Amino acid sequence: MADCVFCKIAEREIPSAVVYEDEDVIAFRDLEPQAPVHVLVIPKKHLESVLDFGKENKVLAAHILADVIPEVAKAQGLSAKGFRVVTNVGEEGGQTVKHLHFHILGGRSMQWPPG
Ligand code: AMP
Ligand code: ZN
Repeated sequence: MADCVFCKIAEREIPSAVVYEDEDVIAFRDLEPQAPVHVLVIPKKHLESVLDFGKENKVLAAHILADVIPEVAKAQGLSAKGFRVVTNVGEEGGQTVKHLHFHILGGRSMQWPPG
């Protein structure tokens, strides 16, 4: 999608620190990390949020949650102590980039509830 920063990262038009990539998904380090490890996992296809997954993207949703997030978390050394996975949706959810992304945050203790 034109003017979408994460589409541009997926297409390698904007540089990023990529930590995982396959045909449908890419994961890269957040520019403004909120934890020692802060990785964003995105589908290469432009979907705005989890609200856009729908039935036609169930395989993609399962791939991200069941395969990619655990693999990235393990590769980043987070599986022993734990980590947090967050996806912000819309205005009240605090979503600033309108391309679906899952934050993987780890390497420190997380607070609950979030602000
Ligand atoms: P959200 O507030 O959930 O929409 O999160 C968007 C995240 O994208 C923020 O944590 C930003 O720091 C991050 N971000 C924005 N632009 C870039 C970029 N070019 N490369 C890496 N992370 C980015
Ligand atoms: Zn996009």
